[in-house]
Amino acid sequence: LLEIEELRKEYDGTTVLDGISLTVHKGEVVVILGPSGCGKSTLLRCLNGLEPVQGGDIRLRENSLTGSTVNWQQTRQQIGMVFQNYDLFPHMTVIENILLGPTKVQQRSKAEALEQALQLLDRVGLLEKKDAYPRQLSGGQKQRIAIVRALCMNPEIMLFDEVTAALDPEMVREVLEVILGLAKQGMTMLIVTHEMGFAKAVADRIVFIDQGKICEIAEPEQFFSQPQTERAQQFLNIFQ
Ligand code: ATP
Ligand code: MG
Repeated sequence: LLEIEELRKEYDGTTVLDGISLTVHKGEVVVILGPSGCGKSTLLRCLNGLEPVQGGDIRLRENSLTGSTVNWQQTRQQIGMVFQNYDLFPHMTVIENILLGPTKVQQRSKAEALEQALQLLDRVGLLEKKDAYPRQLSGGQKQRIAIVRALCMNPEIMLFDEVTAALDPEMVREVLEVILGLAKQGMTMLIVTHEMGFAKAVADRIVFIDQGKICEIAEPEQFFSQPQTERAQQFLNIFQ
């Protein structure tokens, strides 16, 4: 579904992603791990066209996403992204936030989009918050709304960048459970997280990045019990 080939990204002459190659199959959940500053967020941002790249290619269903003629408005409908800081519009209610993309960008009928939005809200247990404003919600609730908003565009892939990092511990679980539910339903996902238990539970494959390079790709059982590289071992020691 998604092919990343020899991707290179520089900031002001400093190489941040140094030849990243990775293929993500439909329905696969790939968790990206690595030390702070290794390039995880940059990689996700490149996949969503938020950063220009200096080399290599990204293909979504054979369509290249690296030229200057890419229709990002359309591509971003296929690749949903949720960040650490849920960026809901503060002056809009939950349901208005969710319906904005489907009705304005995708030009779907309000009735049809509303039906889907209500279903998704129900699934994350927040149907009764549909008319609330973001300030009336907890962090965990806001983050679940941000996920629903992305899902309501019917993306083919979801990208998650440390979506629980800004949450109080008691709210982390409710958000991770939503993502685990998506995995069970077969959603293709790339997930950056520092929650190792969650990574192990949700991942089909772990990709360990260090200094802008993929150091190790492995199944979770293998990665967490017998990491092959010294760098991955050092990284995992921090969490034990
Ligand atoms: P963390 O776990 O702390 O979120 P990360 O793996 O997501 O780290 P990135 O945010 O991708 O790391 O950053 C990779 C490198 O690129 C870092 O050295 C960072 O300082 C640098 N970098 C990131 N964004 C920019 C930017 N806009 N301009 C210049 N350098 C940047
Ligand atoms: Mg990051």
